[in-house]
Amino acid sequence: MRTHEGSTEAKTERSEILDSLKARAVEGHALSCPSPNPRAAPLPSLNPEPGTRNPPPMAGAGGLMKALVYLGPGKKKLDDVPKAALRTSTDAVVRVTRTTICGTDLHILKGDVATVAKGRILGHEGIGIVEETGAVVSRFRKGDRVLISCITACGKCENCRRGMPSHCEEGGWILGNTIDGTQAEFVRIPFADTSLYPIPDGADEDEMVVDESHLTEGQLLAKAREFYSKEQTA
Ligand SMILES: [Zn+2]
Ligand SMILES: [Zn+2]
Repeated sequence: MRTHEGSTEAKTERSEILDSLKARAVEGHALSCPSPNPRAAPLPSLNPEPGTRNPPPMAGAGGLMKALVYLGPGKKKLDDVPKAALRTSTDAVVRVTRTTICGTDLHILKGDVATVAKGRILGHEGIGIVEETGAVVSRFRKGDRVLISCITACGKCENCRRGMPSHCEEGGWILGNTIDGTQAEFVRIPFADTSLYPIPDGADEDEMVVDESHLTEGQLLAKAREFYSKEQTA
């Protein structure tokens, strides 16, 4: 409702969520995604051995969905693929209502990102509605509107506890990289409780998805470089 959307409370709530997202997702995004600027030095890979959390779908999964699939350098296809399904009790499946294409996707399509295998569904940002949750997911339930962070965070490993989810030992930038991503009708989100954000009633989805994918990226790239230069001199 327009009245709610314009209320001070709604604006405060929305800006708090965006702030927390910027602090987390952007830090992670800038650190994890390869730089879209070809003149910039590439950032170190944070997940040298990713893909450890890709178990098979749980029993009962089925059906098809549309998704944008990477088929090797220069090749992609909007295809019918098995519908995203729960694989562990901490997963959620989200019906995607908004997604993005970012510079990282263009790098992947050129064949520059070695961790992305042929057959991978692209996309690492998005907004959607929770379709299904694993047995231990407690913060979200079917029907919730959520913002999907490009960074998957277990919330429990040392790096997550230090506030650096982009270095999460079981997550980091894995969506559209080492597990299937958001450029699809449905996406599986591991560690849903710590990798999704609730969207307040009345928030503008277009505004939120743009804020997540673009506004934050540039801001925190500077932070990422500062972080790594400190690490090198430490
Ligand atoms: Zn991106
Ligand atoms: Zn973690």
